[in-house]
Amino acid sequence: MNPLELPFSRTRHDRAAHRRSESDLVDRLRRGPDTRVLVLHRKRLAVVGHESPRAALLAPGGLPEGTWVYLGEDHGASYAALLLPDDEDLAPPEGADGWSGLRELTSGQAEALAEDDDATVLVHGLSVEAVALAGWHATHRRCGRCGTPTLVVQGGWARHCPVDERETYPRTDPAVIMAVVDDADRLLLGHAATWPAGRFSTLAGFVEAGEALEDTVRREVAEESGVVVGTEPGDVVYRGSQAWPFPASLMLGFRARAIGTEVRTDDEEVTDARWFARDELYDAAASRELLLPGRHSIARALIEEWYGAELPGTW
Ligand SMILES: [Zn+2]
Repeated sequence: MNPLELPFSRTRHDRAAHRRSESDLVDRLRRGPDTRVLVLHRKRLAVVGHESPRAALLAPGGLPEGTWVYLGEDHGASYAALLLPDDEDLAPPEGADGWSGLRELTSGQAEALAEDDDATVLVHGLSVEAVALAGWHATHRRCGRCGTPTLVVQGGWARHCPVDERETYPRTDPAVIMAVVDDADRLLLGHAATWPAGRFSTLAGFVEAGEALEDTVRREVAEESGVVVGTEPGDVVYRGSQAWPFPASLMLGFRARAIGTEVRTDDEEVTDARWFARDELYDAAASRELLLPGRHSIARALIEEWYGAELPGTW
């Protein structure tokens, strides 16, 4: 379990990875009376309902052609994702009412996820897995070494190049996100160039090739704010993670201790960075002078973990 309360990371199904090597897995899923299918098209999920839509779990019979991906098992049922071709605009399959993005679906279900509602957590966990795999398949149709079109194998968990007999696997891009705190117990938040006025969040950035996570934390904080994070044991502490498949990130949350607090913002991405004392942050959020990130984000969880309670308002 994550030390942070992260609704987006809630999951309950068994990925049952041992089944991916079954040679007739996709045929069995397509014929199985206990198979339920998430259908995806252009990064969106087929949904049922109009007012508060939920991802549709459809029976496999009669679905259109596409790429099948095995997601796992729960209580005797098998779950799969069907990735429809993206090159033309497609209507939702029979039994579904429309298409919706994972972020919108998650926002609509944040409360049920936070309360650990079983059915909501099951569909959410399957949806995160399916959207991550759909993003990978959409951008890895050819072999990275020789350019030959690749074949989908292992229940959708690998792609095989028939020329050089090489397999590629789904990629995840690690990114760090950190609550930077100084010795006066103030929290550092930044404002990005592309955001509306008043919006502030924790600093974050991608891990570079050949870099350890702690070094990414120190480098990103220095680049974005000029603040210096310590190098002593305990100065950078891991707090929790959540998948963020937009398109392929894994957000790794940290608490970091600042040893140099002077703020300098000449970064192109982060145009403002400020230290907030506890009361100051609460008052600014309550008056909506300051807008904090959404309740399913890891940024929000890191901020509220530092504050020690829920804070008012959101983007
Ligand atoms: Zn190849």
